[in-house]
Amino acid sequence: MRLSELSHDELVALHAEQTAAYEALVAQGLKLDLTRGKPSAAQLDLSNELLELPGAGRYTDAAGVDCRNYGGTQGLTEIREIFAPLLNIPPAQLVAGDNASLSIMHDALVFSLLKGTTDGPRWVDQPVKFLCPVPGYDRHFALCETYGIEMVSVDLGPDGPDLEQVRSLVADDPSVKGMWVVPTYANPDGAVYTEEVTRALVEMETAASDFRIFWDNAYAVHHLTEEERPAIDVLGLAAAAGHPDRVLVFASSSKITFAGAGVSFFGSSPANVAWYLGHLAKRTIGPDKLNHLSHALFLRDADGVRRLMREHRAILRPKFDQVAEILAKRLGEHELASWTDPEGGYFISLDVPDGTASRVVALAKDAGIAMTGAGAAFPYGRDPRDRNIRIAPSMPAPSDVAAAIEGLATCVLLAATEQRLNG
Ligand code: PMP
Repeated sequence: MRLSELSHDELVALHAEQTAAYEALVAQGLKLDLTRGKPSAAQLDLSNELLELPGAGRYTDAAGVDCRNYGGTQGLTEIREIFAPLLNIPPAQLVAGDNASLSIMHDALVFSLLKGTTDGPRWVDQPVKFLCPVPGYDRHFALCETYGIEMVSVDLGPDGPDLEQVRSLVADDPSVKGMWVVPTYANPDGAVYTEEVTRALVEMETAASDFRIFWDNAYAVHHLTEEERPAIDVLGLAAAAGHPDRVLVFASSSKITFAGAGVSFFGSSPANVAWYLGHLAKRTIGPDKLNHLSHALFLRDADGVRRLMREHRAILRPKFDQVAEILAKRLGEHELASWTDPEGGYFISLDVPDGTASRVVALAKDAGIAMTGAGAAFPYGRDPRDRNIRIAPSMPAPSDVAAAIEGLATCVLLAATEQRLNG
């Protein structure tokens, strides 16, 4: 029965039952971590061949360049050719970097702040705001916060942000310089931007002539179902809309090969690629080309990546199914929470009754279940409804995922009954 329809006595009984369940949970002395979307060791093992590559005596790329040496700021052609079809970006418009796309996002932001974009003066002398679809990725928001960029939340639905909100915010205010987008299987709610939404974002009129969309396609190939949606040609759509320089694309192999030792990518218009490489050349004399070579030898081609991602799916999918099953079993009948059923990516987004997410996360912590902090998916860490909790089931073993979600469900029920009883 719905929680809201329980009589006072029934509520008291449910609260007592959950209090006892919680005490038993604490007594188990669990030590589980569902905080970050890290690949599990079993997933990392899928790429162990990389540890042997490029192999003794092998250090030249297809063009005969010695990868041990400096140079080649745009990265190896062969690794860009492998990822180009997956990201739907021509290889010439793609840059391959070191292990973290977050570093490229950081640099793109800092270059814009300190040096300006291709079509505007440096941002640091002006007020700068970024639109942040919520819930979103906490590290995007941390970048804005650390550089004093004001964040403006917009509501994110299953196929993109509320376009009316976005259009009106960008149309009137020239200080709105940018927007974060995770277009495929968004972190944390699994949203997938449709072509219509994408077209609207690249076509819309913006008061700022140097408006930029930070298009972080971190989960482009991270499908959890057999439907492997291709990446949208966002750069082609932007160019066709007359805004070729609006979109900066970021991606990486962090959750394809090794999270700490993969290859990152930047893709954009020819003018923006020249802009980025120009500034990058001051920062580095070239990326880790040996890692590019190892990845090219290991992955071979786009189909090699697709095959590897299906192996990841075989490991990840059962964990996601388990979370969905346990949440439905424990929370379904009371209709007090809702959660996403993502078709890809790394997260499940759980909404608990308004005003209880912090309490749930605190209860879970005291029971040895570490969850991402409540509010983390919102600018400044503030969830206005205090209801969203991000679940990252990838890292722990399946039995630990089950134990953690059972425990989390107990915390949700306890916090919800507590709240109702306390009025
Ligand atoms: N973007 C998103 C949306 C992410 O979820 C993550 C990892 N959690 C990253 C970027 C980090 O990417 P990288 O490892 O390439 O820095």
